[in-house]
Amino acid sequence: MSRASPEVLNQSSELVDYNLFSTHSALSEALAREGGGTDRAELTRLGAELGSVTMFTLGDAANRNPPRLLALDRRGARRDEVEFHPAWHELMRRLVAAGLHTGPWAQPRPGAHVARAAGYMLWAEVENGTQCPATMSYGAVPALASQRADFAPWLRLLMSREYDPTFGPVSGKRGALIGMGMTERQGGSDVRTNTTRALPVAGRGPGREYRLTGHKWFLSAPMCDAFLVLAQADAGLSCFLVPRFLPDGSVNALHLVRLKDKLGNRSNASSEVEFAAAYGLLVAEEGRGIAAILEMGVYTRLDNAIGSAGLMRQCVSQAIHHARERRAFGRVLAEQPLMRNVLADLALECEAAVTLTMRLARAFDAQNDEAASLLRRILTPVVKYWVCKRAPAVCGEALEVLGGNGYVEDGPMARRLRESPLNSIWEGSGNIMCLDVLRALAREPRTREALAELLVPMRGRDARYDRYLSALLADLDDPRDAELRARELTQRMALAAQAALLLAHGPAPSCEAFLASRLVVGAPAAFGTLPRGCDLAALSARILGE
Ligand SMILES: Cc1cc2nc3c(=O)[nH]c(=O)nc-3n(C[C@H](O)[C@H](O)[C@H](O)COP(=O)(O)OP(=O)(O)OC[C@H]3O[C@@H](n4cnc5c(N)ncnc54)[C@H](O)[C@@H]3O)c2cc1C
Repeated sequence: MSRASPEVLNQSSELVDYNLFSTHSALSEALAREGGGTDRAELTRLGAELGSVTMFTLGDAANRNPPRLLALDRRGARRDEVEFHPAWHELMRRLVAAGLHTGPWAQPRPGAHVARAAGYMLWAEVENGTQCPATMSYGAVPALASQRADFAPWLRLLMSREYDPTFGPVSGKRGALIGMGMTERQGGSDVRTNTTRALPVAGRGPGREYRLTGHKWFLSAPMCDAFLVLAQADAGLSCFLVPRFLPDGSVNALHLVRLKDKLGNRSNASSEVEFAAAYGLLVAEEGRGIAAILEMGVYTRLDNAIGSAGLMRQCVSQAIHHARERRAFGRVLAEQPLMRNVLADLALECEAAVTLTMRLARAFDAQNDEAASLLRRILTPVVKYWVCKRAPAVCGEALEVLGGNGYVEDGPMARRLRESPLNSIWEGSGNIMCLDVLRALAREPRTREALAELLVPMRGRDARYDRYLSALLADLDDPRDAELRARELTQRMALAAQAALLLAHGPAPSCEAFLASRLVVGAPAAFGTLPRGCDLAALSARILGE
């Protein structure tokens, strides 16, 4: 007996098959402003590809079919492989082909990091697990390139645009990816407590062979071709390149113990690993491990902020799209005053996040400029802290706009909400970022001047901003209880930077709403609380156009 489907009324359509880039006003304008404009055509192509139903379907499939650990073969011999769904491999193939892993290093040119930031932000709208190996490979290049020539073959493979998932020695591969292992059971933020030991085989020093014994409590993307790993050598904590295979073609002793059943994406694997006298090459001098791996970390932190901005934009897009099609109490949701306030407020947060992260990305393009390096040093932890902290709030509020449908796993929102807190812990949690801001200010006082150079020129444009800035600069000069106040100070630096950028570049309705809502002392945390007089339609129109 056939059953007739009930008539489907008042459900919004799928938001697919649109250009993620050309509909994104804030990103499109920031690209030109921050120096990445020459890549506009490529980003327009990428935006169309990423907005296609094919890509959204691949993203969903990769997250519905999590990777599987194959620790042992059927006879009990070690395999230490992870099997991924074909959707994962297809996403990785496209991501690497677009150069979103190491493009700016492979083809250095003015604006390359800004353009990649824009592409990476768009990718974050579609799938987030694949961004993990991309980011780690992006950061590994400067970490390895700043050392001796020993790592040149690795660098060549990292810069390839071919994704090669073969589990085999890199000598036979067309491309490679690199992961990272710092965190151990007894401490992740405080890596000085690492207990993994590294012993030299025949002489010590960069490029020489060591054997690593110990563990890592988190090692994401374990099918990468190598990992930058921290371990204790005689002279202290040191950084090693630990490949999956030895030069003689045998499998390295990285024993994958378990995959984490984690909050966040389901597409990527995060493993626990044991090193049983694993082969590794010392990257920088013994005892310089933290400095060496931090070269990688600063790029990861940039990506965390960019990724969160992308995730927010997709969630707000979904919310606005739904509200434009769904009716309640006789009217379309997007026309109801309170919903208009919620949507506009979410859109404003997104605009501010995109504007700030793209400005930070520009500081990565000016690699050898002193002012840009100082700004990068202070602004990276500020932006990573604030933008990543805003993501769960934005994604959660956007999810509620879809009503009950938002909470259902086969819709677009649930996996994105699960993803939203992840960037905040990756490569340094919220508190660690705020403490890093204090460290930057204390160790290199010129970072405060670099920040002031971004903020002070906007003085005189608006009395609310002037008051906010004066109070912030005074409080930055007050050393009392600095650690206790680190979050509050960091948040205010981020808000002041967002306000300054909106004052400088507009658009006017966003700037006005930001000043009226975000610079108010004791401002309430919930979205949908913009004061009277804001141009709500103009704010929302920035997300998907009219
Ligand atoms: C999905 C996922 C994937 C990961 N992948 C990797 C990976 O590939 N490689 C890797 O090395 N790590 C990875 N990590 C680990 C991650 O980097 C750590 O969890 C993180 O650095 C925090 O370390 P921890 O878990 O030991 O927490 P802890 O260091 O114990 O911190 C616990 C809490 O204390 C706070 N805290 C710490 N010190 C201070 C202080 N001085 N003052 C105030 N507050 C403080 C922190 O902010 C945090 O909130 C991954 C984590 C997750 C969730």
